[in-house]
Amino acid sequence: MHETGIAQSILDIALKTAEENGAKKINNVGVRIGKMSAVDEASLRFAFDALKAGTIAENSEFEYMEVALTGRCEECGNESELDGYFVLCPKCSSGRVKILTGSELEVAYIDVD
Ligand SMILES: [Zn+2]
Repeated sequence: MHETGIAQSILDIALKTAEENGAKKINNVGVRIGKMSAVDEASLRFAFDALKAGTIAENSEFEYMEVALTGRCEECGNESELDGYFVLCPKCSSGRVKILTGSELEVAYIDVD
């Protein structure tokens, strides 16, 4: 289960950001997770809740935003939502589809007091 490591990284970023801003507590942490990152939301939430105990993020809300997998065809320029990484353009059947979004794993925002 790699969610624990990811949750720890998210918490580290949140705590560091709060410290840099002289914040006393963290209210909200939002993360953007691409559909292809293979992260389980429930596991990530569970891990984050366990790790935040005893920190200034203890009472924070955790917002999980899933980012759909999308790609752009380099032949015809068509952009569409994809089912997997190895796909053909639904419009012209070209295999030259460049992934645009869906592999994100990042902290979108941190709200502190
Ligand atoms: Zn195409």
